[in-house]
Amino acid sequence: MRRVSIFGSTGSIGQNTIDLIKRDLDAYDVVALSGAQNIKLLAEDAIALNADVAVTADKRRLQDLKDALAGSSVKAAAGQAALIEAADRPADWVMSAIVGAAGLAPGICALERGATLALANKETLVCAGQLVLETAKANDTRLLPVDSEHSAVFQALIGEDMAAVERVIITASGGAFRDWPLDKLQDATLDQASAHPNWDMGQRITIDSASMFNKALELIETREYFDVEPDQIEVLVHPESMIHALVGFRDGALMAHVGPADMRHAIGFALHYPTRKHLPVERLDLAKLGSFSFRAPDELRWPALRLAREVMDRRGLAGAIFNAAKETALDGFISGRIRFTDMADVVSEVLGRDKDTDGLIDAAMTLDNVVRADHLARMAATAVIETKTG
Ligand code: NAD
Ligand code: MG
Repeated sequence: MRRVSIFGSTGSIGQNTIDLIKRDLDAYDVVALSGAQNIKLLAEDAIALNADVAVTADKRRLQDLKDALAGSSVKAAAGQAALIEAADRPADWVMSAIVGAAGLAPGICALERGATLALANKETLVCAGQLVLETAKANDTRLLPVDSEHSAVFQALIGEDMAAVERVIITASGGAFRDWPLDKLQDATLDQASAHPNWDMGQRITIDSASMFNKALELIETREYFDVEPDQIEVLVHPESMIHALVGFRDGALMAHVGPADMRHAIGFALHYPTRKHLPVERLDLAKLGSFSFRAPDELRWPALRLAREVMDRRGLAGAIFNAAKETALDGFISGRIRFTDMADVVSEVLGRDKDTDGLIDAAMTLDNVVRADHLARMAATAVIETKTG
């Protein structure tokens, strides 16, 4: 039996992972599940999957979790240290599906333990790409991408020589505001930004799709994961979200990955890798779909893409600072303190002020430095938000 753990099991990726595992439960020994506020779901799943331990990230919810697990053999735990302890339990395959930089430490710990890390948490590579890849190498294990675009690139590269790769194209649906007049964007509401035209995902990544901060993170993720130069990576707006990525080779060929907008494909691919097993996803009827459309991304509409290029050129801890500023700006938008279009301004200001983050942008990539850079960038972003809200 394969020992598996799922961090962020109560979220959108976590639930899709559980859906696949439940279909073949006898094949898996579930070690740990983790969530935060949705204690009921965390406990229900932990009992149904007979996990060894269920962890809530929120220490104050420990008693609630114990109550929900009463009468079962699942152990309850809470807080950051408990998350790390759970990630340190031996497992063969670990799904990293916590949202935000909070997913970094458990992921690194699982790699140090020698688990294969299925990586949905894109922030891990954005904040600490080099460190995470080195950790995987040092422990003779691997990362498997669980972002639709990166899974697609990974699949298009199977059997190929990286030296023959000319460019990598990741597609973007364009999110909720791809067709809005530019001058209306500043008035976009939280509800409008939280409605994705194609994908059903957690709220934070859905808003990041509307602002293209999600694609910005994915550009950086592509550079880190596939070790390609920034000028080899392109974003292509493809409103149908059926082609997830394309790889261009030096002979002019483009290999595209086509599939339905269903994350169970990328999750299932990582779960069963290197074999391909049957997956319960829609089979596309291309004749019925008729046509696909494409357009170039508009950097006026989506300034996040330009910011990602700055981060890719700068490297070092720029990704950690960028992500922390972005998470703080997103909190500011969700709580109604800043406007939708202010998010990019906040991130741009924090990136431009090296002294506010103690010059860490060029510091060595250790976990301590990443954590400090993240902390200082959140403070700097909070200060910028305060100037905007008066
Ligand atoms: P979600 O909001 O639906 O779920 C997030 C999970 O993380 C939940 O289990 C929640 O309890 C947990 N969590 C939240 N804050 C936490 C904290 N501070 N500490 C520990 N746990 C915490 O998010 P999602 O849409 O499933 O996305 C998860 C990750 O996968 C994100 O990094 C996202 O960018 C990435 N991703 C998601 C999709 C998708 O289709 N949903 C696609 C590609 C990549
Ligand atoms: Mg994606």
